[in-house]
Amino acid sequence: MWRTAVFRLNRKNIDSMSFESLGLAEPIARALADAKYTLPTPIQSQAIPPALQGRDLIGIAQTGTGKTAAFALPILNRLALNPLRVEAKAIRVLVLTPTRELAGQIVESFNTYGRHLRLRVRLAIGGVPIGKQVRSLAEGADILVATPGRLMDLQRSRAVRLDQVEVLVLDEADRMLDMGFIRDIESIVAALPKTRQTLFFSATMPPEIERLAAKMLREPVKVAVTPVASTAERVEQRVAHVDRGGKPGLLIEFLRKEPVDRALVFTRTKHGADRVVRTLEKAGIQTAAIHGNKSQGQRERVLSEFRKGKLHVLIATDIAARGIDVDGVSHVFNFDLPEVPETYVHRIGRTARAGRDGIAISLCSADELPLLDAIEKLIRVDITTVHGERPAKAAAKAAEPRGQQRSRGQQRSQGGQRPQGQQQAKSDNGGNGPGNGGGRRRHGERPRYDPPRFDPLQRDREGLAAVAFMRPTSRNGQE
Ligand code: AMP
Repeated sequence: MWRTAVFRLNRKNIDSMSFESLGLAEPIARALADAKYTLPTPIQSQAIPPALQGRDLIGIAQTGTGKTAAFALPILNRLALNPLRVEAKAIRVLVLTPTRELAGQIVESFNTYGRHLRLRVRLAIGGVPIGKQVRSLAEGADILVATPGRLMDLQRSRAVRLDQVEVLVLDEADRMLDMGFIRDIESIVAALPKTRQTLFFSATMPPEIERLAAKMLREPVKVAVTPVASTAERVEQRVAHVDRGGKPGLLIEFLRKEPVDRALVFTRTKHGADRVVRTLEKAGIQTAAIHGNKSQGQRERVLSEFRKGKLHVLIATDIAARGIDVDGVSHVFNFDLPEVPETYVHRIGRTARAGRDGIAISLCSADELPLLDAIEKLIRVDITTVHGERPAKAAAKAAEPRGQQRSRGQQRSQGGQRPQGQQQAKSDNGGNGPGNGGGRRRHGERPRYDPPRFDPLQRDREGLAAVAFMRPTSRNGQE
């Protein structure tokens, strides 16, 4: 068993920590400002400081939490502070990731955050001719992002040297296990220098992954983003079934009827947020929006009014809502349902701060039913309908956008334990919702067969399927 030094930050620190306070090199800070990143996500606040100190790290986090920047930023900082000429075929940083698609996205992230640095970032993935990759590594590289199989091929053909690697990142370790890459990884790690920094990321920690981590890491700092289920349990959740066009009117009705002290209304897009502001204002409800198109000044002003209770209703997009630390949010409204079910939990968690309970009301149109299904599957609760009627399953299927209907064969087998509350959600396709004839399903109940359904998170976790069917996976569209 590995020894773990848990890096503790209290919630306030995490939420109010700015990128400036992390002390990243100026070109990186500039690139973050270019990308309009204002606040680190929780995994970034927790992982970046110890990683900057050179510590080994285990990060338990999923795609969508900002984990790529959590490892990319400290790595770029190291390279910025210590630029070296790499030798032929040598690399300074190796990032191993299970799928080609993720590998491409990670390269993109390094290029975005490292755009003001002069670095050679290279990609080595299967499914494309190897020659170009061999040539791209001939002069060496600062960063190589690779899938294990192709890296082994490059190693065997002596196109790459691993003896100068300073930092190793193992991304999505649990998915590597599912895809049968663990042997390859062990053999790659054996070729790396013993003295190096290792940053290890996994959404779950099954025993095989713990064993792998124990072999690879030295006194790692362990950081994890809050398990989602515990939050969901403290919030009273309701859903209103309504046409898209009926949403503004219904929101107004709820805001008038409910004992709203402070309400956060989530929309999927910035324009959507602005539209809701206009509609509410016409109805005489004072409100304001915070999103990526607002200046820092506007954002702070609005937040401060919301905190002081001068403004009771705040409209936000998910990214803008990150880092909002306001106690006493009595209601969260999901004007649009999020694409990624975990985002739902983060949203409703805004109302369950400091151990308080809160109310979360989701406005769900027929086309969003697959999203509602995915959320209920994650939190393992059927959300109570308080308005309208949940359309029957057949109608929901018909409304489901094409291309989102997935076959059961594409669902990923669960390799190990998810953080609390998530494991069952992934592996357990409980038949829920009146449309499925299931009524309410509660924790622990054995599910019946459930027809295949759209699970947005699954899209990011279907590495096996991506390989088996030789088709690219698409990234979650949340942000
Ligand atoms: P990841 O979990 O690394 O795949 O990141 C999810 C998405 O969040 C990506 O589209 C990132 O560009 C975005 N992102 C990551 N960190 C931040 C941040 N601090 N502020 C805004 N967006 C972010």
